Amino acid sequence: MTIETVGVVGAGQMGNGIAHVFALSGYGVTLMDVAPESLERAMATITKNLDRQVSREKISAEAKDAALARIGTTLDIAQLGQCDLVIEAATERESVKQSIFDSLLPHLKPETILATNTSSISITRLASRTDRPEKFLGVHFMNPVPVMQLVELIRGIATDEATYKALLAVIETLGKTAASAEDFPAFIVNRVLVPMINEAVYTLYEGVGNVKSIDMALKLGANHPMGPLELADFIGLDTCLAIMNVLHDGLADTKYRPCPLLTKYVEAGWLGRKTGRGFYDYRGETPVPTR
Ligand code: NAD
Repeated sequence: MTIETVGVVGAGQMGNGIAHVFALSGYGVTLMDVAPESLERAMATITKNLDRQVSREKISAEAKDAALARIGTTLDIAQLGQCDLVIEAATERESVKQSIFDSLLPHLKPETILATNTSSISITRLASRTDRPEKFLGVHFMNPVPVMQLVELIRGIATDEATYKALLAVIETLGKTAASAEDFPAFIVNRVLVPMINEAVYTLYEGVGNVKSIDMALKLGANHPMGPLELADFIGLDTCLAIMNVLHDGLADTKYRPCPLLTKYVEAGWLGRKTGRGFYDYRGETPVPTR
């Protein structure tokens, strides 16, 4: 089946990026959210990010205008009924995703592929509660979507080969590269990345190094573009903790126990850049280490 129209449920950080890359690659996009302000913010963000691509000469002004003209927004999930592919990118809560699928499924064409951008919820479990587990899979975009090259494609136990191949081809048309992952907690990128961040927090907790020395060590000693604590602040410390908990609960191995210092920062509401403070304090001109 050819995929020409894409529905995106959830117009937050990820949903607006997903709408952006699909529209720029020529797909007709319908972006849906329950919050009108999310849709407004998403269109403003997409416009700003497309403008940046024009000013950096990555795309032409005509391509930007054409991409914007391909995106429609709606508050009504029934409007996604005619889409060939629907990607759910709403809040990371299983009950939210479940109710979205429940209200969406009666409107979908039988051949429509249903995908979720979840970072941590079991694809197999989500799929099992739909009418099309064989046409359901995980399509895990990285943040920020227009910039990051990778997409993880995650097959649930029932996902059929045709669905998987169709999505591989779609990812290629976006100019992105797919890495295939099986449906186990946190897939590949977060399974490797977040325990490394957690280990950096243990290194801080045990006094092996301070924030500055740990970040400098990984940047200059392992050639990482960002130090692990700086990266944790960028991702959000609550998100890092949630992923450690998914690994700890899902794999039942003590090597994934979240560092108590990470828990303490989250309890303090020091969640990183988004709250102005995490392992660094961002409230002044330049970030200042908090330890
Ligand atoms: P976000 O909080 O920025 O956006 C979520 C959006 O979903 C909001 O606009 C909210 O209004 C909307 N929403 C909530 N309930 C809804 C409903 N019933 N119907 C329609 N829309 C609804 O979240 P985000 O960071 O964009 O994350 C979205 C998904 O992407 C999550 O599953 C998350 O795990 C995943 N993800 C996030 C990242 C990241 O770095 N932020 C990376 C990869 C994947």
